[in-house]
Amino acid sequence: MNNLSHLDPRDVFGYFEKICSIPHGSGDMEKISSFCMDFAKKHGLWATRDEANNVIIKKPASKGYENAEPVILQGHLDMVCQKEPASSIRFEEDGIEVLVDGEFIRAKGTTLGADDGIAVAMMLAILADNSLSHPPIEAVFTTDEEIGMIGAKAMDMAVLSGKRMINLDSGNPAIVTVSCAGGSDLTAFVPIKREQRKGTAVSLSVKGLKGGHSGTEIHKGRVNANLLMGRILHHLSKTNAFSVISVFGGDKGNAIPVSCTAKLLTSDPDGLSLAFENYAGIVREEIRAREEGFAFDAEILEAGAFAALDDAAFGKLLHALILAPNGVMEMSAEIENLVETSLNLGILKTEDDKAVLSFALRSNKKTAMAYLEERLSAFFTLMECPVETGGHYPPWEYNKDSVLRQLYIEKYKEKTGKTAEVQAIHAGLECGVFADAIKGFDCISIGPLHFDIHTTRECLSIKSTKEMYEIVCRMLETLK
Ligand SMILES: [Zn+2]
Repeated sequence: MNNLSHLDPRDVFGYFEKICSIPHGSGDMEKISSFCMDFAKKHGLWATRDEANNVIIKKPASKGYENAEPVILQGHLDMVCQKEPASSIRFEEDGIEVLVDGEFIRAKGTTLGADDGIAVAMMLAILADNSLSHPPIEAVFTTDEEIGMIGAKAMDMAVLSGKRMINLDSGNPAIVTVSCAGGSDLTAFVPIKREQRKGTAVSLSVKGLKGGHSGTEIHKGRVNANLLMGRILHHLSKTNAFSVISVFGGDKGNAIPVSCTAKLLTSDPDGLSLAFENYAGIVREEIRAREEGFAFDAEILEAGAFAALDDAAFGKLLHALILAPNGVMEMSAEIENLVETSLNLGILKTEDDKAVLSFALRSNKKTAMAYLEERLSAFFTLMECPVETGGHYPPWEYNKDSVLRQLYIEKYKEKTGKTAEVQAIHAGLECGVFADAIKGFDCISIGPLHFDIHTTRECLSIKSTKEMYEIVCRMLETLK
C-alpha cells in the first residue's frame, strides 16, 4: 500500500505511512516501540528501550562534526484514537488508512496521528540518511504523551548527553514555541455536617457559558460556572432563607466549567426562585458582552425531609467559593500576552461528608508555581479544610540566550522568506519534563502545519512537512 513514498525522495512520507500501519494508540506502545528498535538494528545504530517503552536511538556525528554538541530530536509515539461512527476500525489491530487529498494527507474515518507520527517519521528519515551533515544525534521517542506524558516522566534522562533539544510536537512552522507551563492539581475538602431538614427542594442552574481550556483560555474573560454559583448563593443568603442539599459543576480540572447546579431546600420556593432569577438576570446584564449564551433556570421540585448542610458547613462552602483565588494571577513580563501564572476551579461537587473543590494550577515559572500552591493551601488551612496536591509536571522556562531559537528563525526565513513568531504557551508540553532534568537546557518546539488534531478531520500539509524536514536538516548542518 506504500503510496506516499513518491512524495519525498528522502522518504519522510514513506516512514509516516509505515507508522500509520502499526497500531499505536495511547496505552498500546509495544508494537511501535519494537518497530523503532528494529529500525535501529537494521541501520546499525545504538538504541535502548526502557520499561515505559520509550526508545532512544543515537547516531554518531557525521564527518567533521565530531566535536559539535549533541542534538536531541524528540517526538511522542502515541496518538489519540478517534473514529467516525461509520468506521469499522479496531485500533488495537488495524492500521490507519491514509489518503492524499490535494495538498494534505488525511485518514479515512479516523484521526491521522500526524500528532505526533510525523515527528517520528522525520526522525527516522534523518537517522536513515547517511548523506546528511550533523552533530551527534540523540533521537528520543517517548510514549503515552497524550494521557499525561507518562513516558517522558518515567524516562531516565541520564542516558542523554545533549542539552539542545528540538521537540517536533507543534503544528505551525510559522510559530516557534520557547516555553510551556508547569502545573499541578490541588483538591480541597470542605468538611460537611448534615441535618435532616424539611421544606421544598429547588434546583437552580447556571449554564450556557463558553468554558474552554483552563490554561490557554484562562485570560479570555470566560465566566467560571462554579464561582458564579458561589456568587449567586452568597447573594441570595442575605435575602432568603434556604439550605444546600447539593452543588455540582464541571467534570474536568483543566476545563473552565460551563454549568453548575445547586439543589436547595426552602420553605418559600417561589420567593427563592424569583430572587434567583432576578439576581441571575442582573449578572447576565453584567457579563453579556463576554458570555452571550449565558442562561439560568429555576425548578421547584418535591417537598419533604432532606439531609441538608448545617449552617457552619454552608457558611464555609460559600466563603471558599467567593474568596479562593481563581483565574489569571500574573502576566509574563518577558513574553507579550503570555499568562505566566493561573488557576482554575474546574470541579465542584458535594458528597455526604464533604464538598470537593478541584483546582488546576499552572505557571511558566517553577518558583511562582510553588508560591501559588502555598497560597491556596494557606487559604484552605485558614478555613480548616484539608488539601491534597498531585499531578505535578514541571514548566519549561524561557531561555533568553537560546541558540536554537535564533537558528530556527534564521533557517525558517531562508526557506520561506517570512519571520517566525516566538510563542510561549500556558499549557504543558513534554519539554517541561526534559527542562527539569537537563541543566543548561536549550529547546524549541516546532512542527509542520497540521490541523484539527485529535479529531477525524486531522490533516497534515505535504508542502509544509517537506519544508520543515529541510529546515531541521539545515539546522543540524549549521550546528557544528
Ligand atoms: Zn502531540
